[in-house]
Amino acid sequence: ASKKRGRHRYSQYRPQMGHILRLRQELEQALAHAVSGEELELHYQPRITMATGELAGYEALVRWRRNGGLISPDDFISIAEEGGLIVAIGEWVIFEACRAAAEELGGAAISINISPRQFQDPGLVSAIDTALKESGLPHSRLEIEITESVLIEDDERAQQVITALRGMGVRVALDDFGTGYSSLSYLNRFTFDTIKIDRSFVQSDDEKTWNIVQSIMQMSRSLGTSVVAEGVETLEQLERLAAEGCDEAQGFLISPPGSAQEMRDYAKKSVPAVLNLKARVAALA
Ligand code: C2E
Ligand code: MG
Ligand code: MG
Ligand code: MG
Repeated sequence: ASKKRGRHRYSQYRPQMGHILRLRQELEQALAHAVSGEELELHYQPRITMATGELAGYEALVRWRRNGGLISPDDFISIAEEGGLIVAIGEWVIFEACRAAAEELGGAAISINISPRQFQDPGLVSAIDTALKESGLPHSRLEIEITESVLIEDDERAQQVITALRGMGVRVALDDFGTGYSSLSYLNRFTFDTIKIDRSFVQSDDEKTWNIVQSIMQMSRSLGTSVVAEGVETLEQLERLAAEGCDEAQGFLISPPGSAQEMRDYAKKSVPAVLNLKARVAALA
């Protein structure tokens, strides 16, 4: 019966499959145009140091401005990965993020996300080096965020790239920590400067999940790795993380991502807000 249903389903959905394929191709073409046509932009989201409430740096997050709207990376990065366009997009992100950090953001530390195919690109390390030299941003101000999926692809190559980046003073972070299959084994095999705890842990109401957060903190202390909490939306979450000894926090509570101009205003104009946060965090210590 299942075979019959399967066949039936196949013939029923076939025209739609073709339609989806066409849509993908169109999207890919439009995306290729986006890279050359200056339709990509970067938004920045601040991270704060828990102990002081001070700005620690920004994460660069790419957006595609199309027909007046903003398309989120979750809706186009995977397509760019499959078609290989990610290398061109990623290179643009690297140069633009370093330039903006050095110029608009006043030399602030910046993090960039690198996806699996990009990490396989033999030109990655030299592109990063060139972007840093051209922008004048110190190497120590750049952090590369990778997820476990990057490490699964090619262990040895990943090891080489991580070593090369860290060797030239660029920091490497393990992003979305805890969402993969073998997060712990990766901590053992590779050296990271930072672990970013995924927001699914940070936002959990489950005590068991918070026990895991506690063990992540303990482990990172023994490894000498800095911990950033992602997706902090409430004061309660922030307080709890501070109590667990988390180093840095990022999330809508602190600020949603915004343009470089908005972030300059944030750092400048909302000093009272930042100070308020600082006082709150300090009160917890
Ligand atoms: P990510 O690196 O884990 O980035 C964090 C995502 O969480 C961002 O979504 C951010 O806007 C969102 N976020 C931040 N604070 C909060 C919060 O308090 N609550 C909630 N619900 N969400 C929060 P965004 O910008 O849509 O990016 C999604 C993903 O796309 C990123 O996840 C990253 O994996 C990828 N991405 C973004 N920019 C780039 C890029 O330039 N290159 C590559 N390869 N991937 C990128
Ligand atoms: Mg990230
Ligand atoms: Mg993340
Ligand atoms: Mg993510």
